[in-house]
Amino acid sequence: MRIQDKVAIVTGGGSGIGQGICYRLAEEGGVVAIFDIDFEAGQSTAHEIEKSGSKALVLKVDVARAEEVNAAVKEVISAFGRIDILVNNAGVSLLSSVAKMSEEVWDQTIDVNLKSVFLCCRAVIPHMKEHRYGKILNISSILGLTGSPARAHYSAAKTGVIGLTRGLATELGPHNINVNAIGPGIIDTPMLERDTGSDLRERLRGGVPLRRFGIPLDIANAALFLVSDEASYITGQCLFVCGGWSASAGLA
Ligand code: NAP
Repeated sequence: MRIQDKVAIVTGGGSGIGQGICYRLAEEGGVVAIFDIDFEAGQSTAHEIEKSGSKALVLKVDVARAEEVNAAVKEVISAFGRIDILVNNAGVSLLSSVAKMSEEVWDQTIDVNLKSVFLCCRAVIPHMKEHRYGKILNISSILGLTGSPARAHYSAAKTGVIGLTRGLATELGPHNINVNAIGPGIIDTPMLERDTGSDLRERLRGGVPLRRFGIPLDIANAALFLVSDEASYITGQCLFVCGGWSASAGLA
């Protein structure tokens, strides 16, 4: 067991990549607290974890709201006594060109994808510092490295996640807290399904050097490594788990 009895918060654990991360952490002995705006989805992840004999807790949290995040973090500490791992995964993808974008779409994209990372980190840091132990993992995107039409606001948020990861790593390193990011490529989840039609999906697949979309388990395996003590000398990094997409000039 690679994270036996470690207590992990996973935001957006009710669906897609977050769900895959919850399952993998639980398989390796972790106790998982799921923060999701969709409580029923979080519950179904938790039931799967409990069926396999591990512990899980679900809290309905909008991670873009400070008071909800702070209250949920307190509940996790009172339920399990500790927080060892925080995975900031919850995100939204709202498509719009900049010229036609409403301020609401801009604000929601930045709040859920970037501000939430700040809020969740701020809530757990005092606890992790007190225990001189912590692993924080932030889910960015290949669009934190590049741009795409109708997703400039999403890229801005995901690039911000990488900057926040680097800055936090320098602040928290002296407290034995590691902070890293993963930049997923194109991963087969409900978000991808909502954002793309089948024609676009085929074209996108052809641009991936490994010629397949990722699955949540691909991200979950990398996440498990980065939050485990095997990665204890890695901090401030963003690992792109993208089938080679970030290495390609688009002619793959
Ligand atoms: P997903 O299937 O839509 O799952 C996201 C989960 O987060 C959902 O359960 C969602 O609930 C929840 N959520 C949304 N807003 C929230 C909020 N304010 N507070 C708490 N929970 C909230 O998406 P995914 O594809 O697994 O994406 C997970 C992460 O990976 C995101 O940060 C995304 O940007 C990133 N990513 C995804 C891909 C990809 O190709 N799939 C690529 C690169 C990066 P609702 O369903 O109710 O909204």
